[in-house]
Amino acid sequence: MIADRQLSRDFWLHEIPCWELYTEAQADEAAEFAARVAQPIRHQFGRTDITSGRYWAAGCVPRTGSHAFGAMDLVVSGGRTKEAWKWGATALMPSGYIGRWIYEPTRYDETGRKIQGEHIHVAPREAMLAYNGDGRIQALEELEDGSTYVFLDWVGGTQANPYELDPLVVTASRGLPWWGALGILAAVVAAGAGGLRLRHS
Ligand SMILES: [Zn+2]
Repeated sequence: MIADRQLSRDFWLHEIPCWELYTEAQADEAAEFAARVAQPIRHQFGRTDITSGRYWAAGCVPRTGSHAFGAMDLVVSGGRTKEAWKWGATALMPSGYIGRWIYEPTRYDETGRKIQGEHIHVAPREAMLAYNGDGRIQALEELEDGSTYVFLDWVGGTQANPYELDPLVVTASRGLPWWGALGILAAVVAAGAGGLRLRHS
């Protein structure tokens, strides 16, 4: 059986539901996920839980879709999940590591029974490529009618990330001088700021 281990400054493998079923390679992927996504969110927002990775927490049933390739669900304490999602769209997505960054609201069935708690669904680009061959970097908000709203659509290879990740430091773009990357980042962030205004509110 795999041994528990520290994934980042204070994230541990045992925080992922059904971690005992992970392979060594999957634990390595989880360490990168923790360093690039979960740890920065916890640093910024406090208590942050990984509620599901490759398995449904209830019964450790293997998941399908991008979860089968490394996607994770995150919940931030204090009702700040959506705030963390908005923050991540500008603070985390420029690194290029994330392929899908989706806010999923609480859902209820016809009888009013809660069937899904709100969470952020995160799929690394590698997971999206393995799942359906789509490596585009997108943030989407799921609307209450079940449709989605594209929040940002980053162009691969144009990102620079000024945010220092722990313990990884992502410094800049692929194939662009740092000053060129910073200019593009400024333009993208300016464009993204417009997208922050939510259409349906
Ligand atoms: Zn998910």
